[in-house]
Amino acid sequence: MINGDVSFWWSQVGRDAPRAPLPGSLRADVCIVGAGYTGLWTAYYLKKAAPQLRVVILEQRFAGYGASGRNGGWLTNAVTGGRDQYVTTHGRDATARFQTHMNETVDEVIRVAALEGIDADIVKGGEFTVAYDAPQQSRLVASVRAEHLWSMTDVELLSAKEATDRINVVGTTGASWHPHCARIQPAKLAAGLARVVEALGVEIYEDTRVSEILPRRAVTDRGTVEAEFVVRATEGFTAGLKNLHRAWLPMNSSLIATEPLNAQVWDSIGWNGRDALGDMAHAYMYAQRTADDRIAIGGRGVPYRFGSKTDSDGQTPSSTVELLRGILHRFFPATADAAIDHAWSGVLGVPRDWAATVGLDHNSGLAWAGGYVGTGVTTTNLAGRTLTDLILGTPSTLTELPWVNHRVRNWEPEPCRWLAVTALYQAYSMADHAEFTRRTTTSPLATIADVVSGRGH
Ligand SMILES: Cc1cc2nc3c(=O)[nH]c(=O)nc-3n(C[C@H](O)[C@H](O)[C@H](O)COP(=O)(O)OP(=O)(O)OC[C@H]3O[C@@H](n4cnc5c(N)ncnc54)[C@H](O)[C@@H]3O)c2cc1C
Repeated sequence: MINGDVSFWWSQVGRDAPRAPLPGSLRADVCIVGAGYTGLWTAYYLKKAAPQLRVVILEQRFAGYGASGRNGGWLTNAVTGGRDQYVTTHGRDATARFQTHMNETVDEVIRVAALEGIDADIVKGGEFTVAYDAPQQSRLVASVRAEHLWSMTDVELLSAKEATDRINVVGTTGASWHPHCARIQPAKLAAGLARVVEALGVEIYEDTRVSEILPRRAVTDRGTVEAEFVVRATEGFTAGLKNLHRAWLPMNSSLIATEPLNAQVWDSIGWNGRDALGDMAHAYMYAQRTADDRIAIGGRGVPYRFGSKTDSDGQTPSSTVELLRGILHRFFPATADAAIDHAWSGVLGVPRDWAATVGLDHNSGLAWAGGYVGTGVTTTNLAGRTLTDLILGTPSTLTELPWVNHRVRNWEPEPCRWLAVTALYQAYSMADHAEFTRRTTTSPLATIADVVSGRGH
């Protein structure tokens, strides 16, 4: 089994030749820090709208090194942190528009990938969420009822039989499904986007770490880029920038990928629609059936490293590999003999209120997007289009959405940060265990953890 090496997705696709680092100080119109989906989508839409602009991307390692080249490949319509917070702050209509834009953004990514010749193994098979104990089942039914109060979410409740006919998870009590989700190969999308923006004239400098972002300047040890606008697109690595140590918390997420599974195993599992598969556990899992018929399955593992540290190239603790292997075998006993080919991890950015944000401060020229928690694959595209409108000063329906210019306070200093996040995930996993083995209703531990963390489900 390969452990780390950034991700299975990058091992599968192979990396482009390294791009040159920043050759020295220079001036640009827009400087983007970070070549993940946020940075690349922003560059793409900016160059399409205003080809005359000099757009420069500075990347500490290589394009797609972060979460964008490591994620679970769910291109889905989730509003980060849930819609309820926006109903409270902006009202129901504005929230409904946000959700509609998220639905449309799934199709926008698929459209641009097709238009630009990016083959990212995209199949729009919807999102399937399974329940397998009584508390999960009651949360599932409640969540589907809540979704039915919105006209645009299109969620269906499936009986245990309908659910297992689709994906045969052992012990299924029911499931939900909606169509606004596609399975992708994440690194193929990142690599393809990087090539496309370069062809549009965007300069990507790799192996160039920004130490500090200042008004109209990004500072590196290879030189300084001065620009009218500087976009911070560093997501889970943001805490590594000067003065941003307590901004977004780098939350860890890990995956394993099996070897390609044979037809007999697939006969017992089904999963012919290539739906993204998740569950109703508090410390939830996520999975996909890959284009070459593996299962890639992910979950939390070690949630957070003291002092906002990030992993080294995706190295994953063996306890996490065993945890994920356990879920895989419990869900699908037919995979018991399948080899695990690869394990890897990545970081996602978690703001103090678990709500994503995009914005621009006109006085300083500083723009930002991120804090997507585990739902950035689609949202980064919306962020890129929104940043383009904000930077070009083009008012649009996007710049009116409720997450624009949203700000939140910092995380607590250490050791409070570490203690709080570690305790939170211990509470979630204890709650899941109690619910799976004996409880008939949601564990109060999970409810308390939700309230304390400010996190909605
Ligand atoms: C394991 C895992 C599974 C996930 N699964 C899903 C999923 O299935 N669906 C979903 O919607 N979301 C998922 N996410 C979240 C999603 O991948 C991210 O929200 C999204 O990729 C964020 O893109 P980004 O460009 O903002 O950040 P990133 O992709 O992390 O890119 C940030 C880039 O900035 C660079 N950088 C950082 N700091 C500096 C610096 N100081 N100087 C220069 N460069 C710098 C990094 O090297 C990196 O390339 C997952 C995340 C992880 C980690």
